[in-house]
Amino acid sequence: MPAGRPSKYNGVDLKQVQMLAEQGWTDAQMAKFFGVCEDTWHEWKKVHPKFSESLRDWKVAADFRVERSLYESAIGYTCKETVKELIAANGLNRNRESEISYTTDDWLNALEFFDNRCAYCGNSGKMTKDHVVPLSKGGKLEFGNVVPCCQSCNSRKKDRDLSFWYEQDASYDKEREAKLKQYLSDCEQIKEHDDNDSKKSCLVVTKEITKKMAPNTTACIFWLKNRKKEEWRDRHEFNHSGNVAIENVLASGRNRSKNRDKPED
Ligand SMILES: [Zn+2]
Repeated sequence: MPAGRPSKYNGVDLKQVQMLAEQGWTDAQMAKFFGVCEDTWHEWKKVHPKFSESLRDWKVAADFRVERSLYESAIGYTCKETVKELIAANGLNRNRESEISYTTDDWLNALEFFDNRCAYCGNSGKMTKDHVVPLSKGGKLEFGNVVPCCQSCNSRKKDRDLSFWYEQDASYDKEREAKLKQYLSDCEQIKEHDDNDSKKSCLVVTKEITKKMAPNTTACIFWLKNRKKEEWRDRHEFNHSGNVAIENVLASGRNRSKNRDKPED
């Protein structure tokens, strides 16, 4: 490389190289990914020994995973299969939800919406939870029916309906009424959206199966032929029926790979 020319190497993110190498990418693939030719990539390995060492370690990690998989295929393994299905949310779920339908977050959001002030008179200070539709008239402690309210307004409103009380009360203000209506209508929309979602469906684990995967013959043969060459190489005197069966498997495997490797016209 001519002196003084900035190397692309400095712009390479090593974390990215690690990720790709551990995923089994080859030098050629990584060189292409980082926009350099393979020679440059190998040059980098010579010039930066640490890069070369790290790369080797990262590739070993990928090899190890493959070896582990091959070994597991050869001896068989168990795996857990989880089936998740979309099922319609039933009424029971909704009822249970409604019991805990007013959360701390709902209250904090309401306080924030009204700037920590009473929704009726606009005063600040300690806020109480006012049920817009009173409990005595079927209102619930639930999202969309609770607004922050000072002690004074709360004791004046008591269990009267909002529409009857507010317009006649001294604290009445047109702008605050508009804000209150805005809040209630926003809550309705959010609730409708949530209801539709829960009516539609929810994702539930419906099945969990532990599967025992049988050993894979090809993986067994590959493993044995490499680890116990003397006993498992292809040319072998076979004396009894079990071994003949294995020989047939080997022969047909060879034929298959021969056919596959035939150059296409
Ligand atoms: Zn008030």
